[in-house]
Amino acid sequence: MPSIQTFIESLHQQYRDLDAGQLASYIPELAKVDPHYFAISVVTTDGQVFQVGDVGQPFTIQSISKVFVYGMALEDWGRDRLLEKVGVEPTGDPFNSLIRLDEDSHRPDNPMINAGAIATTGLIKGDNPTERLNRLLAMFRRYVGKEVYVDISTFLSERATGHRNRAMAHLMLNFGMIGDNLEEVLDLYFQQCALFVTCQDLATMAAALANQGRHPLTGEQVVKPEYVRDILSVMYTCGMYNFAGEWAYRVGIPAKSGVSGGILAVVPNQAGIAVFSPPLDQNGNSVRGLKVFEALSQEYGFHLFDLSMGHCRLKDSLSS
Ligand code: GLU
Repeated sequence: MPSIQTFIESLHQQYRDLDAGQLASYIPELAKVDPHYFAISVVTTDGQVFQVGDVGQPFTIQSISKVFVYGMALEDWGRDRLLEKVGVEPTGDPFNSLIRLDEDSHRPDNPMINAGAIATTGLIKGDNPTERLNRLLAMFRRYVGKEVYVDISTFLSERATGHRNRAMAHLMLNFGMIGDNLEEVLDLYFQQCALFVTCQDLATMAAALANQGRHPLTGEQVVKPEYVRDILSVMYTCGMYNFAGEWAYRVGIPAKSGVSGGILAVVPNQAGIAVFSPPLDQNGNSVRGLKVFEALSQEYGFHLFDLSMGHCRLKDSLSS
């Protein structure tokens, strides 16, 4: 079996010329990114780092932020109170759909789609907008293990064009799912989506979740361990847009992807893994990212139902 470093280098070489997918363009700033960026990072729960490609290239986290803000809302409100406002059911609808919200559920189905994420952000505690933003940034800083920044250009770009998100927020206000401080909630949501991260940061954040909420390098407890299971459950069922079922079948680990081309995934008790490559398929998932994860899962047997039967070979590969 190849060492993980050798294997990710070979995957990088194999897929770097794969010319498929489109950049997200509905947020104008995202359409300006170089489609050739390609990075793979693996951070183990004991703090070893393996990576290849543009691993230090900053990009905006987009939907991947939803995972961590959901964790914070769980800490702020607890499981039952949060469930009253945001469900945990996959939808099979596009991430920015308003149809079920309007005609059926009235409560956002899960925190990984935009409606649920906006409602979740609206629940973050704090006395005023600055305090809420500062709490979010402090939380991201703990996960990343260093200072974090919001990309103001992307924030403004999305704030100027995010009309569907605004419409969703109005619908949710109508149904009593969020308060009337709509523009402020949307600003906070657009700011969390515009957080700058690197591929290595994402793998580190995922490794903290793989490690029961304890940061693999700083040792800090970044989220209460009792909520890690809840976070991973919604990632597993709802994290990969309308590919979530097929991802669970083919790759089989909790993951979240975002429209900027990142995918973050958690191999419980083993490692956090991230891929960054901006061109997306029709579901909104990174084309190269899907290829890499499928190959990794196959090679090292980290599908949860391999893992639970003791078939995972990831740890063995670290020493070979
Ligand atoms: N900020 C983006 C939006 O709200 C995030 C979407 C995504 O990454 O899925 O549309």
